[in-house]
Amino acid sequence: MSHGPLRHLISIDDLDRPGIERILDRAESFAEVSGRDIKKVPALRGRTVVNLFYESSTRTSSSFELAAKRLSADVVSVKSTGSSVDKGESLKDTVQTLSAYDPAAIVIRSPHAGAAQLVAGWTPAAVVNAGDGKHEHPTQALLDVFTLRRRIGSLEGTNIWIVGDVLHSRVARSNILAFRRMGARVTVCGPPTLLPRDIESLGCAATPSLENVHEADVVYVLRMQHERMREAFVPSMREYAARYQINDSRLRPGQLVMHPGPVNRGVELSAATIDSPQALIGDQVKAGVAVRMAVLYELLVGPQLMAVAA
Ligand code: ASP
Repeated sequence: MSHGPLRHLISIDDLDRPGIERILDRAESFAEVSGRDIKKVPALRGRTVVNLFYESSTRTSSSFELAAKRLSADVVSVKSTGSSVDKGESLKDTVQTLSAYDPAAIVIRSPHAGAAQLVAGWTPAAVVNAGDGKHEHPTQALLDVFTLRRRIGSLEGTNIWIVGDVLHSRVARSNILAFRRMGARVTVCGPPTLLPRDIESLGCAATPSLENVHEADVVYVLRMQHERMREAFVPSMREYAARYQINDSRLRPGQLVMHPGPVNRGVELSAATIDSPQALIGDQVKAGVAVRMAVLYELLVGPQLMAVAA
């Protein structure tokens, strides 16, 4: 972990706590810009941001696109649906082709762990990891910390449970690191087949039982990632829901519920819980643009304080 000026955002490990706080403070100013009639600041005028999405995405791709546009950058969005893309070489070719436009930043979403790091080696542009396979999704973690900080203030001493398909989840990995760095205690919970064996090395506890979930201040629910499951990790989705679904009967009043989306309604979360006031899911989506503006700003303008110009 090196904490000089941030060149790329590949992992939450690229940021120390003051770095996370600086980005989130700046995101607060950008949230204010997003409340204006004219939602633009000139910070990246004349610069180009390339969004390269090799995997389906709604929230992440649209919010990165809006974030770059609200900073007045020129934006090129390239979408490709993984299957026909031959990892290594063709990704390199694409990055080199797009580099001809001299982008200031490349935002990359890929089904392959390590793809963002590879891209960083092929281009002089700043690289933002928008999700690489099962590895990390650092901007999701930042917007989750932003959302929680807004709701409860400091995360210091907060008890956060991350429940579900931890094995296939880049969100779990980034969020464990970010929540820990902000002073929270983290427990991951799920069927033993969906808990990676070495997960505690990230600084969290792990349990297959929801029995003590009432101790959590925040229950962060993960999507069952069918598309990444090549074998049967659970007997059936019904069985999974019976044992692990977060719903009214498992929650106590006052607990907050988060989910990175998209939600499998009625599988990992009950429909009633998704729509309940305990759920912060809508706030998480709303935080995406401001936090991604702050990340692009940090990488392309720098850590200095910003006066948000009118
Ligand atoms: N949207 C998140 C991701 O891209 C979570 C998910 O897909 O379950 O990793």
